[in-house]
Amino acid sequence: MADAKKDYYARQFARMLRVPTVTGADKSVFDELHDVMWDIAPDFAKLPRFYPRNNSMIIKWEGKNHDRPLVLMAHQDVVPEEDEKGWKYPPYGGVIAEDKIWGRGAVDCKCMVFGSMVAADELIKEGFVPEQDIYFCYGDDEENSGGSAIAEAKYLSETLNVKPVLVLDEGGGMTSKKPFEKYLVSNVGVIGVQEKGFADVRFIARSKGGHSSAPPKNTPFIRLAKFMLYMEKHNVFDVQVLPILKEMFIDVSKAVKPSLRPIVRNAYRIMPLASKILPAQLTAQLKAFLSTTMVFTMAEGSHASNNIPDAAWVLANIRYSPQEGKEKTLKKLEKIASKYKIEIEVLNSRDASPVADTKSEGYKYTVDTINKTYGDTVLAPYLIAGGTDCRYMQAICKTALRFTPFLVTLEEMGACHGYNERIGVDALAEGVVFYKNFISDFR
Ligand SMILES: [Zn+2]
Repeated sequence: MADAKKDYYARQFARMLRVPTVTGADKSVFDELHDVMWDIAPDFAKLPRFYPRNNSMIIKWEGKNHDRPLVLMAHQDVVPEEDEKGWKYPPYGGVIAEDKIWGRGAVDCKCMVFGSMVAADELIKEGFVPEQDIYFCYGDDEENSGGSAIAEAKYLSETLNVKPVLVLDEGGGMTSKKPFEKYLVSNVGVIGVQEKGFADVRFIARSKGGHSSAPPKNTPFIRLAKFMLYMEKHNVFDVQVLPILKEMFIDVSKAVKPSLRPIVRNAYRIMPLASKILPAQLTAQLKAFLSTTMVFTMAEGSHASNNIPDAAWVLANIRYSPQEGKEKTLKKLEKIASKYKIEIEVLNSRDASPVADTKSEGYKYTVDTINKTYGDTVLAPYLIAGGTDCRYMQAICKTALRFTPFLVTLEEMGACHGYNERIGVDALAEGVVFYKNFISDFR
């Protein structure tokens, strides 16, 4: 692709990054983003649009046939920028520098809104008509686990009577073999096919309260501390290598040098052991793959420094593994907490999502299109520890996949919810090509 075209994409995309559509922002902010979008893609803007909830949108591009609808998802909202001083370039500056476009939402995930929208717009201009109906679903509250994707799925199935055969949303990613030529023989990527469950649980320790001048033993915070220490020291959750993780290692092994293949292919066999002996950061990742995880994130006690709280609490964020869901996990926690005279209150809780069908035509099609666009790329299914809008589409589609189709470096991936989020000018342009392929080859 000519540099002029890549630069054009970068400049247009930068305009989208200048609109601070932080989750929950005023409607006027989202309206501003929409104005920019329709200006970038005027022909796409002429397609019929539906608004299932607040600023979320479904855009319908009618195809020649209607029996195998395709859904392309992405979200318009972004997480807050945190401390602006941490950024090399302003988070909403839309600065193009060092061959990158910088700003909150560059990777997560305005690039997917831009890529799908611009691809469609260009194809419309070329006179192309898709073989099947295509729906673009752009939510507005993904970062808040909000309801827009629920509303979109409901609107699609109940109002528009659509049963998608394939859904593509953000999630997994890929890396080029270039920086890892010592190990890799091809690019390698992962496609998210299942999400872990999620819960916020409050642990409450009560007492008679009282003045701090003559304190008794075992006050609420001490009991909570003992409980938290117990949870930190013991592996109370079941450890299991799921079939999709075995599949992941077998598939990924095809991307590494032949001499390394047996090691990677069999890595899952030693995973439970490895999770005990590896460095802390890696262990945390592995554990997240193998079992339910739980971390304490909030706490509250008395409102005065000289009052012993009559109730203190800590809150834990839990990610249920598919093998140990909410019922079993909560029972286990209740039992342990009761030993410290702690009650539990479940604020919200959901089990792991179903597993998308990796044997389906849609999965194969996605793999093929990634290969067509990016060259030799080995793709493997994997389990996502975070949440995406995609899980709501699983209610109406058995092949709802999570894959961000842009060549993003590991460092750029890590900047997603942190400082200096950015995407390469080349990567953005290649992403548009991916979407053009994905739309035009779909039957
Ligand atoms: Zn996202």
